[in-house]
Amino acid sequence: MHELPVTQGILSVVLETAQKHNAQRIDSIDLVIGDLSSFVDDSIQFYFDILSQDTIAQGAKLNFQREAAAVICLECGHRFNAAPPLSPFCPACDSSRLQVSGGKDFYIDSIEIG
Ligand SMILES: [Zn+2]
Repeated sequence: MHELPVTQGILSVVLETAQKHNAQRIDSIDLVIGDLSSFVDDSIQFYFDILSQDTIAQGAKLNFQREAAAVICLECGHRFNAAPPLSPFCPACDSSRLQVSGGKDFYIDSIEIG
């Protein structure tokens, strides 16, 4: 359910951008979703199809790109990409002093308009 407000946000940004460029229609939208965020691609597309009805974004294809989370071990400096489920230990030294960055982002990468 929490995809709904996010999808509304995407649609309004996309429509605003298209308007600025006098676009007649929106063909596709590239989105980046962090691996650790809990958004479900299918749900976003589902809400988008409903919300975009009777707008120039109707029928636009959403392309999802997953972004891995980067983890840095504070003990040995080892860096690695983490995918869920996150291991709480460094694969190099077994330390649990890990710092996670990225992987929670959600943003529009590009919009293809026609
Ligand atoms: Zn380590």
